[in-house]
Amino acid sequence: MGIEDKLPSGVLLTTVEKVAGYARKSSVWPATFGLACCAIELMSTGGPRHDMARFGMERASNTPRQADLMIVAGRVSQKMAPVLRQIYDQMSEPKWVISMGVCASSGGMFNNYAIVQGVDHIVPVDIYLPGCPPRPEMLLDAIVKLHDRIQNMKLGVNREHQVTELEQAQLRRLPLSAPAPQPAVPGPAAPGGAD
Ligand code: SF4
Repeated sequence: MGIEDKLPSGVLLTTVEKVAGYARKSSVWPATFGLACCAIELMSTGGPRHDMARFGMERASNTPRQADLMIVAGRVSQKMAPVLRQIYDQMSEPKWVISMGVCASSGGMFNNYAIVQGVDHIVPVDIYLPGCPPRPEMLLDAIVKLHDRIQNMKLGVNREHQVTELEQAQLRRLPLSAPAPQPAVPGPAAPGGAD
C-alpha cells in the first residue's frame, strides 16, 4: 500500500519532472521552415482536415525566439544550411527537430553537391520521418511520438544521467550490417588421394 492510499481523495501526486514534461509537451510551437514540396503536406497538417490545433500547435511562429520545434520540410540546400542553423540557434531552449521527408533526412534523390545529405549534419534531429512526401497522418504520428519523448524528459542531474546512458547504449549497439561470410578455403589435397 502506497502513501497515495492514505491521502484524501482529490490529492494528486506527481513529480516536478512530470509536471514540467506535461507543460512542455502541451505548449510546443513550431517554427515555419518549409523548404520544398514536403511543406505542402506540412501546411495541410495545419488545416481543418488533419487539425494540428488539437495539440495547440497551429500557431506557426514567424520568429524563432517564440518557437521550440523546427520541422524541416524539404531538401536543404548548401546555401540554406547556415540560415537553418542560425534560426535553430535563435530558438528557445529546450528545442526539438523533426526531419520531414527523405530529402531532409538523407538528401533523398538529390545526391549532388548542392544539397546537404541529411539535415543532421547541421542540427541535431529528434525524429526522422520517412516518405516522399510523408502524409499529414505520418507527421501527426511523429508529433505524438515527440510528445511522449518530451513528457519523459528528465531534468537537471537526471537529464545528464539520461544522456550518458543513451550515449553508452549507442556505443554498445552492433553495426547494422554484419560482415559477409567468407567462402571456405579448400585445404591441401591428402597424399595418395584419388586423382
Ligand atoms: S521528400 Fe519528396 S516531397 Fe519531400 S522535399 Fe523531397 S522530393 Fe519533395
